[in-house]
Amino acid sequence: KDLEYTEATIAAIATPIGPGAIGVIKVSGSLSEKILKRLFRSKKPIKEFQSHRLYYGYIVNPETETPVDEVLITLMRKPHTYTREDVLEIYGHSGYLVLTKILELVLKEGARLAEPGEFTKRAFLNGRIDLSQAEALLDLINARSEESLKLALNQLRGALAEKLRPVREALLSALAVVEVAVDFPDEDVEIISHYELAENLENQVLEPLKELLKNYQEGRLYREGIAVVIAGRPNVGKSSLLNALLAEERAIVTPIPGTTRDIIEEFATIKGLPVRLIDTAGLRETEDLVEEIGVKKAKEKIATADVVIFMLDGSLEPTEEDLKLYQEIKAMPHLVVINKIDIASHENLNRYREIFPQEKLIFISARTGEGLEALAEAIFELVTGRTEEFIPSVVPNLRQKMAIENALKATEQAISNLKKTDIYPELIAIDLRDALSSLGEITGETTTEDLLDRIFSNFCLGK
Ligand code: GDP
Ligand code: ZN
Repeated sequence: KDLEYTEATIAAIATPIGPGAIGVIKVSGSLSEKILKRLFRSKKPIKEFQSHRLYYGYIVNPETETPVDEVLITLMRKPHTYTREDVLEIYGHSGYLVLTKILELVLKEGARLAEPGEFTKRAFLNGRIDLSQAEALLDLINARSEESLKLALNQLRGALAEKLRPVREALLSALAVVEVAVDFPDEDVEIISHYELAENLENQVLEPLKELLKNYQEGRLYREGIAVVIAGRPNVGKSSLLNALLAEERAIVTPIPGTTRDIIEEFATIKGLPVRLIDTAGLRETEDLVEEIGVKKAKEKIATADVVIFMLDGSLEPTEEDLKLYQEIKAMPHLVVINKIDIASHENLNRYREIFPQEKLIFISARTGEGLEALAEAIFELVTGRTEEFIPSVVPNLRQKMAIENALKATEQAISNLKKTDIYPELIAIDLRDALSSLGEITGETTTEDLLDRIFSNFCLGK
């Protein structure tokens, strides 16, 4: 690594501060053992601490020998530690005062306060994990659903780096061939034809990178969830549907039209996808100022939706207002849902079929629950393009996705230059090197201090 790295011993409180059972203070660096010996007292004095063993005793203020807390400690000698440095962990009682007192003593003995993510940064700088694993750790800490947890765990095992290894190798061997042409321009030794080279790059570089980009799109759905807006004129049953999908009555349902003035949002899962359900007020023209604000908000919500459920009342004939609303939403990804089929007549339902011949209507009853499963499936299919649940095993994050896109662009350029009649190996070599360095950013082979700071500052203290 060509990164500057000063060997200071760092320390931090590694557990959330509060009146929990235990609090952990983590220390990493060469001073760990010296600090331990200065601050720790046990019944029988310990001459030589064994690595990775728990000891029971007290932390004392070495100036006065007054005990600060009753603790368990463990000293873990490098290299078999999180940071690949000597690590000391002190398990104390988790009060703010006690933990900060211990931390103060540790700092007095020569450690400095760790920056957010600095322990993990050291694990990376000392070669224990690659950058994508460090980021996976961050995802793991922040994971909100079972699916996102699985994704983070895969990444932590190094799945992305593994997937990229053959891609990098393909780029490197292409670069080697091209560089021979740069170095010996007059020799007419074609070890491998330009077309063959281009084809290799297409199969071994473009394809896997495109697959990763697709995974990004799908993984994003699971990580961030989708927004489903329920739109329709008053009284068609929007709030009822929201409640039915939540399987509990959270929004107030009322038979008086126009009472859902504000936007109501609730969270649910549809086939493993985290879903934000948004119930809008009717979108009709109105004189009422309060309602006008509601209408404006509803329009804004619709514009950002992943899916708009356009709802109609099957127990009534379609109205002018329905058709007007349909015009507002039809450019968005949408589903046309006919509600209240439990009380709807065949004549009415057929009228809807005639009016929306181009739509695949979904018939439901928010009251009896009929058709809700089909609706959930239609929502899932509309956003994922799949009928079955599918979670890609390797999903890049936004930063990694951008690096992949850069690598893809550079490789595409190299390929198009390889296919020309006049070949300039120097230019192709530049593109291939660009692609390699972009991919290197993902795992951390090529990084800048700036990038590292940005990534690791997202961690909390003590990680
Ligand atoms: P919103 O104004 O679109 O949110 O409509 P609500 O959900 O408040 O429902 C308006 C009225 O229609 C209420 O009296 C509901 O009980 C009734 N309703 C909603 N869905 C159904 C349904 O599937 N069948 C029947 N029979 N009534 C329903
Ligand atoms: Zn409502």
